[in-house]
Amino acid sequence: MKSTYLKAPFQFEQRDVPVPEVGADEVLIKVKACGFCGHEMIQAKYAATEWTPFGHEFSGIVEKIGENVQNVQVGDTVVIETSTFRPYSDAARNGRVDLDGPASEIIDYIGGRETMGFAEYTTAPAALCVKFTTMSFQEGALIEPMGVAMDLFKTADIHLGDDVLVFGLGPIGLMALQMAKKAGARKIYAADLSSAGKRAELAKKFGADEIIFTDKVDIKSYPFARGGVDKVLLTAPPALIETATHTLNLGGVLAFLGIAYGPAAIASFDSNLVHHKKIQIRASDAVPALYFPLCIDLVESGMIDLKSLISQKFMLEDAVEGLTHFVQNPAEACKAVMVTDPDLL
Ligand SMILES: [Zn+2]
Repeated sequence: MKSTYLKAPFQFEQRDVPVPEVGADEVLIKVKACGFCGHEMIQAKYAATEWTPFGHEFSGIVEKIGENVQNVQVGDTVVIETSTFRPYSDAARNGRVDLDGPASEIIDYIGGRETMGFAEYTTAPAALCVKFTTMSFQEGALIEPMGVAMDLFKTADIHLGDDVLVFGLGPIGLMALQMAKKAGARKIYAADLSSAGKRAELAKKFGADEIIFTDKVDIKSYPFARGGVDKVLLTAPPALIETATHTLNLGGVLAFLGIAYGPAAIASFDSNLVHHKKIQIRASDAVPALYFPLCIDLVESGMIDLKSLISQKFMLEDAVEGLTHFVQNPAEACKAVMVTDPDLL
């Protein structure tokens, strides 16, 4: 069967490998659709020094189950969490499953795993499988990043009447923007570079009132209706935390998510400004993965639009060309999704 690998800088390769064996607590999944993640973009750009299997945003059909598996059956349509919590940990028993280290992870960037979602079949711990019914497999491939967006949205604690700045218009920012709109944000400002292209158009479509191109105007002195905003959802490089603190009103909340490597991970800000404006800087990290059933319900009930985020679809056998085209054309790109069935194109 086919499985795809990446290596920096921007190299992709497909190999024929055996269908993986299923462990006692695992399932074998026939992959139907798999998204290409922003973090995998960083891997492809410079972080992956070895050939690495990838693809953790996928949906498919359970093909085989290990002898201990009880939560899913052959034929179930499922999406896969990246990790889950330990149900019997002290943190979980104290009601905070989010504060436990992840158990049963699927992401393994340092080797040991032969295949992931960019393949015909892959294995996954059964504990990570979440069943769905009516949404499409392509939408299913976006539930994992939607769970990340949900964690960011919940971290910001947006209320009816809040003015919100969505800073960074990648797929996760655009999903969180839709959630902020549905939650009753009064005004939504969407900020990115003017090269955001299609993604800025999507922000408008999803309900952003004003688009701010940060390479054209100084966002620190932008004429926000209330002088500043109440909540910031930041999915841009960490250095922009400092910029974002200038956009907040008194008592504002800055919810941040993003992984950077090396010096790019270091952020500084004016502590006097944060102090006097009583700003809270809150980190969102969707580990363990949470909220998949909620996200599935929001998509299946039509509250959140994932389809519009898919800017590019290609077959697994065309993944090398498809991904190369995707990384070379950022202005038209939002989310790339690989499918294994021509009916899903
Ligand atoms: Zn991802």
